[in-house]
Order: sequence, then structure tokens, then C-alpha cells
Amino acid sequence: MEIAKGIYHFDSGPFNWYLIEEEGRLTLVDAGFPGHYHVFKKGLDQLGKSLKDVEAIILTHSHADHIGFAEKVRKQTGVPVYVHKEDAKMACKPLQLPWFGLLSNAWRPYTANMLAVATINGVFSLPHLTKVITVTDGQQLDVPGRPRILHTPGHTDGEVVLFLESEKVLISGDTIVTRNLLTGALGTPQIVNPILTKNYKQAMRSLDFLRELGDVTMLPGHGNIWKGNINEAIDIALENAKI
Ligand SMILES: [Zn+2]
Repeated sequence: MEIAKGIYHFDSGPFNWYLIEEEGRLTLVDAGFPGHYHVFKKGLDQLGKSLKDVEAIILTHSHADHIGFAEKVRKQTGVPVYVHKEDAKMACKPLQLPWFGLLSNAWRPYTANMLAVATINGVFSLPHLTKVITVTDGQQLDVPGRPRILHTPGHTDGEVVLFLESEKVLISGDTIVTRNLLTGALGTPQIVNPILTKNYKQAMRSLDFLRELGDVTMLPGHGNIWKGNINEAIDIALENAKI
């Protein structure tokens, strides 16, 4: 539920998305798979909120496990969907996942299970976005939580993280995660596996853009919450990347 001050997390298995609340208004960050919509609706109920309280949707990137039910909510509410300009085209196309990496690892029980979960949760009928608003590096959005967008290309070209200055919360998307997406193992901060990342070297370099953030509560796209100095997370992730 409340995973950091004013930020809510609801269980959608290994696919994280978050609700930021500020003065009763909500920003949805990422949107799981389409099948997770009912978790989202139940989450709103639990918070005593409704779709009317949602003011914005922000995507950390345009993979299917983050776009999920975003278009459905957009259509129902008319709220803006923000995505980095480099991922905007991809958000408006169906079936955006690193399929080669996933299918070539389908022999792994966890990956096979992820693909099954993706299928059950509607990846093949995923409504892609039909309207997005593009954001750029450094932009602070005037939406609940007032997150600052930091462009961290690598996993995708338009991958971003969100930094909420007042609470020192970093919603790190798939820039830094704490779960291995091929084995399912929960662990220390890490970059998403090379085969699931568009430009692995760039993904490593992009971590340097975060070095000034200090002590943070990090909420990743996959895996558990992590707290500490961002430099520690970056150094661990780079160390893990060498293995
Ligand atoms: Zn992801």
C-alpha cells in the first residue's frame, strides 16, 4: 500500500506501477499489463478514490508491461499521458516488448512464466496509446507529486526516471531495478539484463546522470523498494553489470 510518503503500490506480481497522491489528487506512474486494471481499480477503492481523482499518467518507458491499462484510463478520464519524446512513437504501437530476449530465454522457468502471465494479462490485445504528451530531460511536471523527469536512455531510447524532490523519492522505472527479469531473483540494484536492454553501455552511462540525487527512496519498475545513497545503488548496479 503506502510504500513511501504519499506513494502507493499495489501487488501486480513482478510488474510495479505507482500512484502518487498530493492533496487528494493522483498521478499514475506506469500501468502494468492491461489485466492489472482491476488491481488499479481496487487500489483506488482502497484509497477512497475514483477515476475522477486521477490527474495524469506518466510512463517511465514504452514497454508493454508499463503501458498496460494506461490507454484505458486515458480514454475514461481524458487525462494526459506523459512519455519521453524518444519513446512516444513506441507508446503508440502495439506489442512493444524486447521479444527476442524474452523468447530466447523462454526455456527459463521464470521467463516462461512471465510470458504466460503477460498473455493472461492481455499483452496481445494491449490497447496502445493513441495520444501522448512528450517530455524532455529536466522537465518538472505540474501534476500531483511534481516529479522531475530525468532522461536515462539505455533500456529504451526514451527511458526516464522520476525524482520527487520533497520526499527524495526516485521512481526508477527500468533504469535501475532490484529484480533479475530473466530469473526472477530479487536482489541488489541492477541494470536490466543486456538481452532485454536496447543499449546496455548507454544504460550503464546513464546512471551517472543520477549521481547528484543523494539519499533516496528508490521505487523500481521491477523488484523491491531500496533505500540509501544513490551513489551506492549506482556502484552496486555497475558492479553487478560486470558479472
Ligand atoms: Zn519493465
